[in-house]
Amino acid sequence: MQTDKTVTGRDGGNLSPWQDQPNVSLPDNTPTNNLVYDCLIVGGGITGLTAALLLQKAGKQTVLADARGVGFGTTGGTSAHINTFADTTFNEVESAFGKEGAQLFADAIAEGMTMIKRHVDDLEIDCDYESKPGYVYAESDEEVKQLDDIYEGAGKVGVAVQYASEVPTPVPYKKALLFDGQAQFHPLKYLQALKHAYLDAGGRLLENTRIEQTGYEDGIHLAGGVRAKNMIYATHMPPNINVFNFECAPYRSYVLAVKLKSGKYPDALIYDTQEPYHYVRSHIVNGEELLLVGGLDHKTGHEDPEKSFADLEKYTRKYYNISSVKYRWSSQYYVPVDGLPYIGQMPFAEKGIYCATGYNGNGMMLGSVAAGILADLVSGRENKYAGLFNASRIKPMAGFTEFVKENADVVRRFVADRFSFRETDSLKRLKPGTGKLVEVDGEKVAAYRDEDGVVHALNPTCTHAGCIVNWNGAEKSWDCPCHGARYDIDGKVLTGPATRDLAAITQS
Ligand SMILES: Cc1cc2nc3c(=O)[nH]c(=O)nc-3n(C[C@H](O)[C@H](O)[C@H](O)COP(=O)(O)OP(=O)(O)OC[C@H]3O[C@@H](n4cnc5c(N)ncnc54)[C@H](O)[C@@H]3O)c2cc1C
Repeated sequence: MQTDKTVTGRDGGNLSPWQDQPNVSLPDNTPTNNLVYDCLIVGGGITGLTAALLLQKAGKQTVLADARGVGFGTTGGTSAHINTFADTTFNEVESAFGKEGAQLFADAIAEGMTMIKRHVDDLEIDCDYESKPGYVYAESDEEVKQLDDIYEGAGKVGVAVQYASEVPTPVPYKKALLFDGQAQFHPLKYLQALKHAYLDAGGRLLENTRIEQTGYEDGIHLAGGVRAKNMIYATHMPPNINVFNFECAPYRSYVLAVKLKSGKYPDALIYDTQEPYHYVRSHIVNGEELLLVGGLDHKTGHEDPEKSFADLEKYTRKYYNISSVKYRWSSQYYVPVDGLPYIGQMPFAEKGIYCATGYNGNGMMLGSVAAGILADLVSGRENKYAGLFNASRIKPMAGFTEFVKENADVVRRFVADRFSFRETDSLKRLKPGTGKLVEVDGEKVAAYRDEDGVVHALNPTCTHAGCIVNWNGAEKSWDCPCHGARYDIDGKVLTGPATRDLAAITQS
């Protein structure tokens, strides 16, 4: 059956320029109920689609399910730099994983980069892929030390780097590095092309299919009406309570796309070394050249996103003469506790359930390389990076299983204890278009008043682990400060690890 459907929306109130394009029509692909697939891939971002394509092309019968649609998650909100270096420096990797670990990490990043380029070439993808020089600069003596450390670490693993004599930035700096051979692209044009190649190869795609629970019978995984011998969680963060809630911290990151009065845009990828950092690059979107300025990352639910946007705009205006701000958006990524992503067999899960998470801000390369590792694991092939990124590499913390049980109970109880609300004074003070945690009859309520004055009231208890969500006025979402789950104004899950919506509270 082929019906037209629209894609995909995104996980927040602000569109990225990648998502600002005509709706793409999708084939409606339903699973063949009696078929046992070789692999169910959950999540249609760069990780899931790359893995699905690799497996399908290798002759496996696969199905990809996404809770919303292809590109709904962070891949639709990325800034799409393709680098030979990463947020975790090679020296940092060396001190935690040894010389061999640092070399493997550098090789893995290079392989992710090569995989993207190979897809662009082989599938003739028109996704604005361009090679660019990359500059990293230091503004203080402390940052100069960091820069020298980055230089030394990159040199040891053979990543091409040199000190730069000039950087195309108006920001005064003390010292800078030049990484040649970086790249950029339009992530959703790339993703759509992978999707078409996947469907052409016989892959099946299920959109609007959230995987909440899985079953296991006679070596077969059961999820979302699909039966499969293997499963991959390519959901950026695996759903529900899992060890990665303790091993990865969710961060929000902000981007502006602006027009410059001068009409002159830097032809490079440029990064500072501040904490939190800033970066710029240029991209022609819908025929219009734009400067992308990003950074100011913070832990999800811990700071005011509207202030982060305001600070980013102030920073941009300090250095650039802006004629207009065309886009502003934010998205989420996960920082792994030891600096490297977790890729492989999912800890505490049935054999044959795989996952990939903790890419930091480097998911274009690491998501691609993760797809290669997971495709090899599903196919029973060795992969030289599997050991380094082993998802079970940290011993499980004592009492973890008990924690899971207790939290499952907590969440169930909250959902069962629904109550109704009435328009109290604190609710009356809520302005249209804003949200707030308010107290009604001694109970906390997550309340949003829409432009028509209607209050959307929710139980603020995150359905993942029982924390209380915070209002994100910039993306009009409820964000959990504990593990990064996010919900829209009606409580619908936008970002895992939650799989169940916030309970709505009705007006009495
Ligand atoms: C602002 C920002 C800028 C960045 N810039 C860069 C950059 O320049 N270069 C770089 O390399 N990396 C960058 N990153 C990181 C990179 O974008 C991400 O690591 C990468 O996009 C993650 O891809 P993914 O496929 O793993 O996850 P996602 O793209 O998030 O896809 C996950 C998918 O899973 C689906 N899903 C989730 N739960 C379920 C469920 N239970 N059932 C079914 N489906 C589910 C979602 O709907 C979503 O479509 C950036 C990140 C941010 C936040």
